[in-house]
This record gives sequence, structure tokens and C-alpha cells, in this order.
Amino acid sequence: MPVGQLVALRNKTRGVLVLTPDPSDPKAYLEFQAYEDPGGADYQYVSEQVAANSPPIVKAILHQILEMPEDTLSPDVQASFRQQMEVAQAQKARAAEAVLKSIERTEHRDLVGTPCVGPGTTSGTFCGQSVPVREGESRESAPLCPQHKGLAQEFVPFDDFDGEKHNVRWVRARLGERERGVA
Ligand SMILES: [Zn+2]
Repeated sequence: MPVGQLVALRNKTRGVLVLTPDPSDPKAYLEFQAYEDPGGADYQYVSEQVAANSPPIVKAILHQILEMPEDTLSPDVQASFRQQMEVAQAQKARAAEAVLKSIERTEHRDLVGTPCVGPGTTSGTFCGQSVPVREGESRESAPLCPQHKGLAQEFVPFDDFDGEKHNVRWVRARLGERERGVA
């Protein structure tokens, strides 16, 4: 294969960028100075075949870390570059989708509707309005709806062991003014 013409790659970041076009040959690396380097060292020149077929370079262009004028590539190299770009784009989309899925899973697993332990409308009952509580945070504060949030300091957690697992039971330790009979 004839050695193609050189294409200019430009670092678009504000820091020095070191990139290995071929991960199996880490000794052959490109070092770019920061974007708009006064000496022009934010540009590096590589053969167009290398630029179009190196996954690290293609990815850097996709993530807008590197800039390459695509129209300077010969038509056949341009075709292979576009193909590499599509592969990298599909990988990026799959990675983003995987992240999104894991976030959804975490949210569904973590948020548990727990009844509010604040006082109900009649004596001896409790509010019961469902409060979303994150799993693992159930011992940190009593489940209280927005209306009863201000009573948080009055609740103390007790460990309830039902023979199988430990549950937390919130008991109102300090009675409010009304319950104490103070008008
Ligand atoms: Zn409540």
C-alpha cells in the first residue's frame, strides 16, 4: 500500500494531549501542545491511512478532542474513515444507553415507598402518606411527608428484629406541645 499524503490533526483541548494511534505500539505516540499553541505544535501530521484507521484517533475526533479536516482525505481513505466513525459512534451510543439503563435500575431498586410516621388526624393513628426513601438511608431519618418533615428531631429509631431481618421502627420520643396538654 502506498504511503498516503499527510493530514493535519489538531488538538482542541487546552492541555497537552498525548495519543497513541496504535495501542499495540505504545512507543509511537503523538504529542500535541495545547490548542492555539504559539509555535503551531497543536498540530501533528500523520499519514491519512493512519488517521482514518486508528480507533484512538477516530474516537478523539468523535469526542471533539481532535480536529481533522475530512475533505483533505483521498476518497478511498475518506470512505474507510467514515466507516470507522460509524463504528465509534455506535459504541458511544451503546455506552450511553448502558449508563442510562443502570441509572434506571438504580432508581427503581433504591426508592421504596414508606408510610409517613407523623401523627394522624386522630390520637393514636399515624399519617401514613407514602414517602420515597432511598434504600440504605432508612436508618438515617424517619420517613416523614412534607407536612410532618419538621418533626424529624422528635423521632428515634428502634431496631425491630422479626427473626429474619432487622427493620427500623421510628418512635416519637418527644411529644409535641399539643400532646403534652400545653395549649
Ligand atoms: Zn405525614
